[in-house]
Amino acid sequence: MQYKYLSGSLLEYSIKKEKLLLQIRKTIDNDTLIDLIAMGLPNEIIEKIDREKLQRPKDLHNEIGKLEYLATKKNKDTKKTKLSTDNKKNKTPCKICKDKEKGTGFHPEDECWFKD
Ligand SMILES: [Zn+2]
Repeated sequence: MQYKYLSGSLLEYSIKKEKLLLQIRKTIDNDTLIDLIAMGLPNEIIEKIDREKLQRPKDLHNEIGKLEYLATKKNKDTKKTKLSTDNKKNKTPCKICKDKEKGTGFHPEDECWFKD
């Protein structure tokens, strides 16, 4: 599944969802909040977030912000040529992810999250 990124959209989503959930139930705990917010995120993003490190929804927002920055940066380069080059790029599984047993990431090795 391809997820189309709009600038700021995932971070906005994550912050809005936190507010919404807190409106519904003020006593909701941080772990539940994080899980509920994360459920709506694309797998591509969830795979790259270390859930163990997240203690508050704010930590999740930070991670999303970082990942989204990478995604938006990539989008800016390819915007003019639209989707044609993007599709080709994503058909090769990332070797770094595979070697590090992080699953099969379909992204260029240069942009790999697990790159040293
Ligand atoms: Zn990778």
